[in-house]
Amino acid sequence: MTFSGFKVIKEALTGHKGWGPLWRTPEPKAQYDVVIVGGGGHGLATAYYLAKVYGVTNVAVLEKGWIGSGNVGRNTTIIRSNYLLPGNQPFYEFSMKLWENLEQDTNFNSMVSQRGIINLFHSDGQRDAYRRRGNAMMLSGAGARLLSQADLRERAPFLNFDNARFPIKGGLMQERAGTARHDGVAWGYARGADMRGVDIIQNCEVTGFRMDAGRVTGVETTRGVIGAGKVGVAVAGNSGRVMAMAGRRLPIESQVLQAFVSEGLKPVIPGVITFGAGHFYISQSDKGGLVFGGDLDGYNSYAQRGGLPVVEDVLEGGMALMPMLGRARLLRNWGGIVDMSMDGSPIIDRTDIGDLYFNGAWNYGGFKATPASGYAFAHLLARDEPHETARAFRFDRFARGYVIDEKGVGAQPNLH
Ligand SMILES: Cc1cc2nc3c(=O)[nH]c(=O)nc-3n(C[C@H](O)[C@H](O)[C@H](O)COP(=O)(O)OP(=O)(O)OC[C@H]3O[C@@H](n4cnc5c(N)ncnc54)[C@H](O)[C@@H]3O)c2cc1C
Repeated sequence: MTFSGFKVIKEALTGHKGWGPLWRTPEPKAQYDVVIVGGGGHGLATAYYLAKVYGVTNVAVLEKGWIGSGNVGRNTTIIRSNYLLPGNQPFYEFSMKLWENLEQDTNFNSMVSQRGIINLFHSDGQRDAYRRRGNAMMLSGAGARLLSQADLRERAPFLNFDNARFPIKGGLMQERAGTARHDGVAWGYARGADMRGVDIIQNCEVTGFRMDAGRVTGVETTRGVIGAGKVGVAVAGNSGRVMAMAGRRLPIESQVLQAFVSEGLKPVIPGVITFGAGHFYISQSDKGGLVFGGDLDGYNSYAQRGGLPVVEDVLEGGMALMPMLGRARLLRNWGGIVDMSMDGSPIIDRTDIGDLYFNGAWNYGGFKATPASGYAFAHLLARDEPHETARAFRFDRFARGYVIDEKGVGAQPNLH
């Protein structure tokens, strides 16, 4: 089944009887060339690119819940490539380019919307830092524009410009950034992988690894033992728990991040806006809800819900930035477990166990990385060497002192 405008019109005129399920529900086979643990955005994108780009189709994605039940369906949907450091910038720019062609590539409407992101600055020092970042972005082809206060007053007149404590002096804009429908991304990759022969097996939790002579040979699951030539782990917030089953301790902490959505409003927020004097970011969904978030809850947890102190903190940040927020009613909030690394940057690498590969440490910014992460992990699994944009994301960077500390806050996961 392919999607097209013609197909939509035909179905509308014939009672919508021609739509089928987006992927099959296969029984697990005894053996696969590659088993991916985790059916989030990254696991599904890996399977898709393995099949499409590298021709490896005897692949299973094992998901303990249902597709989209993890962070891929819980995030605030922001995509961007406004990074500074050489370890990060080429990778996120590669991801941005894949986003720009994603819907044509997967033939699925993931509602990728390049509505732009504006990072506000509130002091002269912050303006200098953003200008430096903007220069790095222009060098890598990501594109950047420095906005004056007058530009901002025109684009976003509702901002609290004259707040004596946090005066808004301007912003750094990436026009190619924006949002995408998060679960639509998971569904598009799942469908594309399934069409190429990948088995997507839901309600199948990995509970252990089978090893022989220092190599992984398969996984134990709630649906039996499944043999594998190679195993790729992409379980985001559960990275520590799953890798502990292989006897490995990771430089990762799991913490809760909350998201919030208001009642539906007429279009008011022009793109994505982030507060530079506090941690607050906001956009507006196509349904009209204001979608926003802020800081981590700040303690280790595997509960997919957060606490009230952070609810208060996020809403205070929002009110300081745009007092009109106080007039909207909050519709709902939720939490997801994010895998925070010591330097705030990801890991895509082999492990010291033969044929066991790891993809994780996405912190709270891994949604935007989904296409490049899947591509780079597929490359690593298929070729056994890192993708050129992901060479820096190694396990041993902490031991070698090559941390990629984009925020410059040191080895403190809850500050990244
Ligand atoms: C509230 C919130 C807001 C965010 N906002 C943004 C944003 O605006 N922009 C951005 O770029 N990023 C954002 N992120 C981060 C982003 O969502 C994550 O970094 C990214 O989704 C993680 O990768 P994933 O999609 O593969 O994770 P997941 O969707 O969590 O996938 C991992 C999967 O592994 C499965 N799993 C776990 N254990 C096992 C097991 N033992 N066996 C089988 N399966 C298992 C889980 O059920 C899960 O489905 C946000 C995160 C949260 C929580």
